[in-house]
Amino acid sequence: MSSTSGAASAAAAGAARWPVAVLGATGAVGQTFIRLLHRHPWFQITEVAASERSAGKRYAEAARWIEGTMPEEVAELTVAPCDPASVSTRIVFSALDSNVAGEVEAAFARAGRFVLSNAKNYRMDADVPLVIPEVNAPHLALLEHQRQSRGWEGAIVTNANCAATVATVALAPLHQAFGVERVVAVTMQSISGAGYPGVPSLDILGNVIPYIGDEEPKLEREMNKMLGVVVDGRVTDASFAVSAHTNRVATENGHLVCLSIGFERRVSPEEAVAALTAWRGCASARGLPSSPERPLVVTDAADRPQTRRDVGAGRGMTVTVGRVRRDPIFDVKLVALGHNTIRGAAGGSILNAELLASQGAFDPA
Ligand code: NAP
Repeated sequence: MSSTSGAASAAAAGAARWPVAVLGATGAVGQTFIRLLHRHPWFQITEVAASERSAGKRYAEAARWIEGTMPEEVAELTVAPCDPASVSTRIVFSALDSNVAGEVEAAFARAGRFVLSNAKNYRMDADVPLVIPEVNAPHLALLEHQRQSRGWEGAIVTNANCAATVATVALAPLHQAFGVERVVAVTMQSISGAGYPGVPSLDILGNVIPYIGDEEPKLEREMNKMLGVVVDGRVTDASFAVSAHTNRVATENGHLVCLSIGFERRVSPEEAVAALTAWRGCASARGLPSSPERPLVVTDAADRPQTRRDVGAGRGMTVTVGRVRRDPIFDVKLVALGHNTIRGAAGGSILNAELLASQGAFDPA
């Protein structure tokens, strides 16, 4: 792990881990943070926080645990309210509802904390990095600009909407090789994407809902920011046109995205497969504790990726792309699948924190 800073290497070698807190720890993404951070080599959860409904309770009482076994050391923690006076860690993972994330995350950043956010509130701000480490690690350069413009001692780093994350990992190799000009994206998104308790069972069982509130605009704008380039410390967005249709379907985890893609020049499916297969992403994102062996794998099976069979690829951190074929209207079409609460939320956020740690961002000044 040659890219890691002194402190990250020390943590990796078994020395003290950085204490971290999870805000919104009781929800679907908050619980995924807790599962993924259990026995993490660099980070240790020491505090959890959620709404006034949960504050003051033991975590085991406050959270309706969804998957696997709740880690014991978290079960006994008392849930704190989400304010910097009640939470002491310098590194804070936020799985907060967007209705409250705006104010709460800014309060933590102002108080000198590093906030790794899953909420939509700051993603598109010009001075806030929107990061998938393998795709756009250099966008962390925005933090300098953020500190100057906001006067915060801390910082906010965001990860993208879950469906936009899956689509962006699939598009990154193609945009880098050929220049994407236009995209139609049609999603089939699992119910865990709606949080907990989420969509009522009678609305979703045996059903498809062709509407997810505020989802299509996120897909239509976030990909261009992530696939933009850093010039003089600022991001110049990519400028391809995106039309998104988003659908909620009765799967548990995993967002499947069908993409039709037009390029700046004619691109064949064979060229697209070659670019996708060769892609390894930014070198600085390799070898971190949560990095998958491959951020993207291509399958040539006629009927894959499938949500049930492929959602766990790379412990939920790998996006699987298949059915790469000619599009009679655009150039190429394909299907991409990724885990929404892991790669598209908590896992992505933890990878962002690991990238920051490897660059020395959390080392004492
Ligand atoms: P969720 O299951 O509804 O959880 C929301 C969390 O926010 C809960 O811990 C809740 O605490 C807390 N909360 C709600 N109101 C609060 C308040 N007034 N003050 C403090 N805490 C409050 O939602 P989720 O699916 O985990 O999503 C969390 C965030 O991640 C959202 O911004 C969402 O858009 C984003 N995201 C989700 C996914 C996904 O696949 N689910 C993917 C990417 C991004 P209580 O239990 O105490 O109410």
